[in-house]
Amino acid sequence: MAAATRLISRLTLVTGGGSGIGRAVCQRFASEGASVVVADISEESANETLGSLPSDLRGQAHRAAVVDVSSKESVKKLITSIQTQYFQPPSVCVNAAGITQDDFLLNMDEDHFDKVIQVNLKGSFLVIQAVAQALVACGAPKGSIVTVGSIVGKVGNIGQANYAASKAGVEGLTRTAAKELSRFGIRCNCVLPGFISTPMTDKVPEKVISKMKSLVPLGRMGEPTEVADVCAFLASDDSRYITGASVEVTGGLFIG
Ligand code: NAP
Repeated sequence: MAAATRLISRLTLVTGGGSGIGRAVCQRFASEGASVVVADISEESANETLGSLPSDLRGQAHRAAVVDVSSKESVKKLITSIQTQYFQPPSVCVNAAGITQDDFLLNMDEDHFDKVIQVNLKGSFLVIQAVAQALVACGAPKGSIVTVGSIVGKVGNIGQANYAASKAGVEGLTRTAAKELSRFGIRCNCVLPGFISTPMTDKVPEKVISKMKSLVPLGRMGEPTEVADVCAFLASDDSRYITGASVEVTGGLFIG
């Protein structure tokens, strides 16, 4: 199927859709014909993304929603409200909500460790579980869940003990979900971005960015659209025989 229509009549949910990679995923999905639920902790940024989405393909209806992925109650409310509005659960879900709270291991506050695990790892668990439960309950024939890990979950990163642990966890979670959910026709895959230009990396000091760039074989940071392209592939039937995979989107960073 041509990429431009691959996601026609698919209902998609993107957490962290208000910014960076999540926003680019929403835009890419909408451009391929999907209806997109843009979910973010910030109502304002979710609405901003919503306003940027094309909706000229058949039957598209996008909406913005507020969710805190680290709260089971909030995630449940989101899925219920989607089912009430669209009469179906999302058959594609991308978990792009994430945070960093960096510090050296020797100084890291327990609170900062817990918070990053809560949002990045537990948040992915809660969303995957709620979406999968809804898909199984309604007998949906297929689903595709994409998690956003990070290359640092594999190799570690100075100042990111909490973040690297959360992202390594996201990969293990995704592989397990892939094994358990395949019998329901639900595929689960993880993308592992390297260094991508977003508000998250805007916080990183210029010195660290230029050091990182020098380590990237392709010689530059990635763009959110380059991660979104891979998410669209994993969401679509073009990847129908792929589950439990982790796809690095790093420009070759840390390939060894
Ligand atoms: P971003 O621009 O900061 O986007 C993350 C979005 O998630 C923000 O809109 C943020 O809202 C939202 N969010 C934070 N906590 C949330 C919660 N509890 N519930 C719902 N939404 C929440 O960052 P990004 O760079 O696009 O990152 C997207 C994903 O890619 C993250 O999982 C990140 O770890 C991962 N990643 C990024 C890179 C990179 O180089 N950028 C590399 C590897 C992996 P607020 O802004 O209001 O907090």
